[in-house]
Amino acid sequence: MAETTVPQVGGEPEQGEQMYEGKAKKVFATSDPDLCIVSYKDDATAFNGKKHGQILGKGEINNRVSNHLMRLLEADGIRTHLVKELGPRDTLVRRVQIVPLEVIVRNIVAGSMSQRLGVLEGTKLPQPVLEYSYKCDVLDDPLVNDSHIIALGWATRDELDTISALALRINTLLQGHLDAAGIILVDFKLEFGRLPDGEIILADEISPDTCRFWDKATGAKLDKDRFRRDLGGVEQAYAEVRRRLLGTAA
Ligand code: UDP
Repeated sequence: MAETTVPQVGGEPEQGEQMYEGKAKKVFATSDPDLCIVSYKDDATAFNGKKHGQILGKGEINNRVSNHLMRLLEADGIRTHLVKELGPRDTLVRRVQIVPLEVIVRNIVAGSMSQRLGVLEGTKLPQPVLEYSYKCDVLDDPLVNDSHIIALGWATRDELDTISALALRINTLLQGHLDAAGIILVDFKLEFGRLPDGEIILADEISPDTCRFWDKATGAKLDKDRFRRDLGGVEQAYAEVRRRLLGTAA
């Protein structure tokens, strides 16, 4: 197992310059070259940035929910970028080189799969479906397959085998954790990164922005589809996910 830099208690690195601003997060360098700080924003986009808005409180909820789910996954033996929650919207993470893929796992047909293949949204899949999209905004994150990924050098065969096995294992683990909170995990998107020694770990976030969550009892949507599809109750849905997973903890 590779050694990683974990800061000592009370010895957190200083926040440095902003390295990157994405649609939902900012990333800052720190005084430790192996670590960065992710800061979650309330800004929301959909349809690859064509729709913009704000979801009040989203940054804080996604920070807390994502860290909680990553902590549960760490306890299950999955290595993630999470180091320490620093504040309501800020988290210290390991610095990785992001593999430029959106790794999507589906348990129930929804969204783009429903539209692309003409299968009714809500159709249960007898086994999970794994998809990859190339992370590229100007191309609208096109769907790609293993041979594109390897031939174009985005990941090696070994890395892709690791990524696909991790994604399917994470799916099983998350389904269990969410079921206990009365939430069905319909589909979700993961991103992975490489540590300096080449190890692949889970990065980015796991939140109502990046997952489809349906209420187990009512089927109500508890995720970004409420924003994408103008269903109303967006803030309430995000707050409900936070409440179910974290209770009333501050
Ligand atoms: N997803 C995401 N970021 C993206 C595209 C998709 O987090 O850029 C998530 C989305 O929230 C859903 C899953 O990946 O949980 C599958 O999304 P889909 O391909 O159906 O696309 P959508 O219909 O959401 O555009």
